[in-house]
Amino acid sequence: MTGPRKLYVKSYGCQMNAYDSHRMADLLAPEGYMETAEPEDADLIILNTCHIREKAAEKVYSELGRVRQLKEAAAQGGRRVTVAVAGCVAQAEGSEIIRRAPIVDLVVGPQSYHRLPDLLARAEQNERRKDQIVETEFPPEDKFDHLPAPTKAATRARGVTGFVTVQEGCDKFCTFCVVPYTRGAEVSRPAEKILAEVRNLVAGGVREVTLIGQNVNAYHGAGPDGGAWKLGRLLLRVADIPGVLRLRYTTSHPGDMDDDLIAVHRDLPQLAPQLHLPVQSGSDRVLQAMNRRHTRANYLRTVDRLRAARPDLALTSDFIVGFPGETEAEFRDTLSIVDEVGYSDSFSFKYSQRPGTPGATMADQVAEEVKTERLHRLQAAIKRRQLAFNASCRGLTFDVLMEKPGRDAGQLTGRSPYLQPVQVMAPASLLGTLIPVTITGTISNSLFGALAGAPRIDAESTLAAAGA
Ligand code: SAM
Ligand code: SF4
Repeated sequence: MTGPRKLYVKSYGCQMNAYDSHRMADLLAPEGYMETAEPEDADLIILNTCHIREKAAEKVYSELGRVRQLKEAAAQGGRRVTVAVAGCVAQAEGSEIIRRAPIVDLVVGPQSYHRLPDLLARAEQNERRKDQIVETEFPPEDKFDHLPAPTKAATRARGVTGFVTVQEGCDKFCTFCVVPYTRGAEVSRPAEKILAEVRNLVAGGVREVTLIGQNVNAYHGAGPDGGAWKLGRLLLRVADIPGVLRLRYTTSHPGDMDDDLIAVHRDLPQLAPQLHLPVQSGSDRVLQAMNRRHTRANYLRTVDRLRAARPDLALTSDFIVGFPGETEAEFRDTLSIVDEVGYSDSFSFKYSQRPGTPGATMADQVAEEVKTERLHRLQAAIKRRQLAFNASCRGLTFDVLMEKPGRDAGQLTGRSPYLQPVQVMAPASLLGTLIPVTITGTISNSLFGALAGAPRIDAESTLAAAGA
């Protein structure tokens, strides 16, 4: 008798990809695939790829070099390994992947991965004919209707924080970005389907839910009442589900922060006081060339409105340095917005020319050394702010969600409301609870704390409340 086949999924890039990787594993479990963390053991290897920057795409090709060796070693032992490339590189490059890496059996885009069982069956039949499969259509059916819910065991294995995709794709067409081309037009999922997915996650032990989308606050899904629901309304309904102790959403566009959503930051205690609101640049000329549809001034006004609603809100951002034509003075506008907003942390990137986007063919591309030097200066400014924010947490008491065993014996690692990792001496029985912690120390991006009270709701009573 043969055992279950082993599946190894490697996820690159954003949380949407991490979510899709889980859904692929859920989809393949009934087909007899069990997940493994060891690529050497796998019968099926899926690389779920990211195309956002050139470096991200090139990483996939070097990984395929290593996968080729695994595949050849397995073949010598008489074992067949199927190799699939999924995600945004699959969508953007299609059959080019097979030209560069002939060991790939199957290329599948982010909107077609629900067809994996069928595609894999075809790939196996194809082996004798040696032609590979490329599936990068935007199919008419909704892939979510074809994806099974994760089992309780799979959810438990993934921990106490869970992600739910509420919208996909983007219609904004920032001139640097491939997302509208690889993920397609903006589509929102119906509210009821999202609520059912959250209930399922909570029943599997999830305590913190993050609603995700490339442009999550553009959400406008069909509500059960037939009308279109915006994100604020959806968050209020998700928070009503017993067992949802904490809520987040990401990634937002500054232009879509409407009054109702801002009011939810004031009114909803479960909504964590932390928001990722990418500004990209502090210069109005660069923002316009990026087609960001917001200015520095109206971004700062949005920040003020958010902080009026939730004074302790911690903000994070994405930044791009060296967009075509960016001058030193314009770059300094980016440096100054870091201090003006006082971000608690941020991601920063050198501009990367993406084929097919307007930015790629703009004149005045910035030299690599200039981009590198600006990135260092920006990262130093971000780090200073992060250290100051972390230091300001010393002596505060706030709720920490205990997520996993800590680095040292007897320790647990949790997350603060502001998304910082917190190390606490605490028994394993507190895993999955939200518990008050007083911050006693900080290093770089981590906090240390001591228990300061009883759990808000313990894991057992939460599960009971959720009817699990
Ligand atoms: N939707 C989000 C928004 O509007 O800000 C961002 C989504 S994108 C997946 C994540 C980040 O990657 C962007 O915020 C941007 O900073 C960065 N990014 C996108 N395209 C890039 C490029 N061509 N070069 C460098 N960074 C890029
Ligand atoms: Fe890309 Fe975000 Fe701009 Fe959409 S809004 S094009 S996802 S950066």
